[in-house]
Amino acid sequence: MEEVVVQQALPLGNWDDLIGHQAERRRLVRGGAFASLLFSGPPGLGKRLLAAWYGAHVNCHQPGEGAPWSCDCPHCRLVLKNTHPDVYWMERAAGKLSLGVGEARELIHHLYLRPYQARSRVCIISEAERLTDEAQSALLKTLEEPPDSNLLILVCSQESRLLPTVQSRCRIHRFRPVEDAELIGWLEGKGCPADSAARYAGLAQGSPGKALQLWEQPALWEALEQLLDALGELPGSSLGRCLELAAKCETLKVPGLEGRALLEWILHSAQAYFRDVLLVQAGALHIIHRHRLKQLEQLAQKKSRVQDWLEVLRESQEYAEANVNVRLLLQDLFLKLRK
Ligand SMILES: [Zn+2]
Repeated sequence: MEEVVVQQALPLGNWDDLIGHQAERRRLVRGGAFASLLFSGPPGLGKRLLAAWYGAHVNCHQPGEGAPWSCDCPHCRLVLKNTHPDVYWMERAAGKLSLGVGEARELIHHLYLRPYQARSRVCIISEAERLTDEAQSALLKTLEEPPDSNLLILVCSQESRLLPTVQSRCRIHRFRPVEDAELIGWLEGKGCPADSAARYAGLAQGSPGKALQLWEQPALWEALEQLLDALGELPGSSLGRCLELAAKCETLKVPGLEGRALLEWILHSAQAYFRDVLLVQAGALHIIHRHRLKQLEQLAQKKSRVQDWLEVLRESQEYAEANVNVRLLLQDLFLKLRK
């Protein structure tokens, strides 16, 4: 049990970091006594912090729905510090790719024990899309009717990987990207200069998690700039040069971001970049990489290729999700983008 149902090891941040999602938060607060919830939406939107916030809210001594949420009652304080005895996080163990049926059964068993001090015990399953089908089936009855005083929140970024029977037993809250203006204001509040904040918010595409990483990790932005240099050089380059560029990209280093997390950024950044090329072709003004306009204009002249490049990136995204070796993936990607 202790292996699976753990207090989350990563810090949650701060209630001040809970930005956007006003409509969904109001819907949550007014939503009544639904005991199984599904929080769905792209990674980095703050869904885990939102789940913690809702877990705090249902037990809070002086609940309100407003933002910023600054409650300092014992429940809210403990939830934020990850030390609340009645808020559990079911998370994948390091090095494991899925959450299995054994873990699901342990969790169910645990739900029948009485909460320590809270009105509602809150159990948050992170990355619910990683529950195996068997584990999802094992949870069906519990999701349908959790034992008294329990609230389950499934957090997932790929809703389609959940069984329809799981989806239908939860009240679904879909979270959408946060508005640029709100992201920019939030970053500025953290001391980020206005021009960088606009750039980071643009590339983050509505994800506070991504925007914060860019601001806190200058090496990340620099690495992505090197990637874009390589992408600009790639079309029509020699085979040797293409492989050199792929190798250079593979050896990019950003402290704190291991290979696969950096790969996600590389694919995200390249997609945003080629979408900018499309926007330049269409004469649109609102582009993310304004500081690279000249290079974008050059690429925009290769009209017929841009859609193909985006398609190639979508393929690479799928390979990345299927855990394909990073070197092979980058070589394949660069060879296709070279044509
Ligand atoms: Zn409170």
